[in-house]
This record gives sequence, C-alpha cells and structure tokens, in this order.
Amino acid sequence: MESMIEFIHERIGKKYYDQGIDFTMGNGHDTLFLSDYCKHVYSYDIQALALNNTKEFIKDKKNVTLFLKSHEYFDEDVRDFEVGIFNLGYLPGGNHECVTQYETTLKTIKKALEHLVKGGCLYVVVYIGHDQGKESTNLDAYFRTLDHKLYNVAKFEMMNKKNAPYVVIVEKR
Ligand code: SAM
Repeated sequence: MESMIEFIHERIGKKYYDQGIDFTMGNGHDTLFLSDYCKHVYSYDIQALALNNTKEFIKDKKNVTLFLKSHEYFDEDVRDFEVGIFNLGYLPGGNHECVTQYETTLKTIKKALEHLVKGGCLYVVVYIGHDQGKESTNLDAYFRTLDHKLYNVAKFEMMNKKNAPYVVIVEKR
C-alpha cells in the first residue's frame, strides 16, 4: 500500500489546477509535486532552512512563490485556491522543536476553507508519533463539526498500526 503522501499525490495528480498552496513547505517535496499540477503554487514555512532547501530543490520551476512566513497569513498573497496541502510536524533533518502548532494550524485551516473554491480539496497529513502530533488529533474534532451539506470530509488511516500518520481530505461542495 502507498504511503500517506503517495496517496494524496495520486489523488491530486488526477486534475490540473489554477492556484495551489503548500502550507508547510519543509524540504519542498509537496511544493515540487504541486508545481507539476498547478498554474501557480504558493508555499509557506517559518524556517529559513526549509526555504533554502526548497529553493534549491525547485530551482528550475517558474510557477512557484516561496514565503518565509507563517501559513496563517497566506491570504495576504493568494485569495482563492483549488488545492492545498498541510503536511504537519517538523522539518525532516531540521530542528524537531520547530513543529506545527495545533492552534495556528486550526486557525489557518478555518481560513483556508473560506478561500477554497467549490470543488477544491484540502489535504491534511497528521503525524501522531510526537507530542504536538498527538494534539493534532484534536483537529479531528473540528473536522467532524463541518456541515456535510457544504463539505465532504474523509479520513484515510491504517487501522492496524498504532500512531501511524493519517490523512484528512476536505472537499468543498
Ligand atoms: N511538505 C514538506 C515536504 O514536502 O518536505 C514537509 C513538511 S514538514 C513535515 C512541516 C513543516 O512545517 C516544517 O518545515 C515546519 O517548519 C513548518 N511549519 C511549522 N509551523 C509553520 C507555520 N506556522 N507556517 C508554515 N510552516 C510551518
């Protein structure tokens, strides 16, 4: 079976989009992937190391803008978008203490759903193997409150592996 990231890339790769947002740039793998399927990609991280790594990783791409700022301010740069990825947790190979924060993530997801166009999808990859990740499972409580007439919300998870990462997909109807 594919990994959670492979799973979302496979789904995202079925269409072509105008605007895509990578809310957690990291080393740029999701940004690079989105750039193949979007007219333009906006990508955010709060760590200079992430920005520098990604700049090098996507150096041939002309349709990507990288931002060294928290994803909660994405609406300063882009209004409506069709596809977005949150890949929560810490920068692989970086400082494990600099990790996505539940409160900021929740605030940004709420704002992102306002700017997501009808038919668009938000993909949230949640890791629960570390403390902040455990807190992120509280996001599930929020996702369950979303009106099913406005959003389709689905979860993809390994049922037989403790603390395995999982994916929540929110589609705006
Ligand atoms: N998508 C990445 C990739 O393809 O390599 C992996 C992302 S990594 C698991 C999570 C990233 O989120 C870290 O690089 C971290 O610095 C970043 N991050 C944490 N808080 C953030 C925030 N408020 N806004 C934007 N990025 C944040």
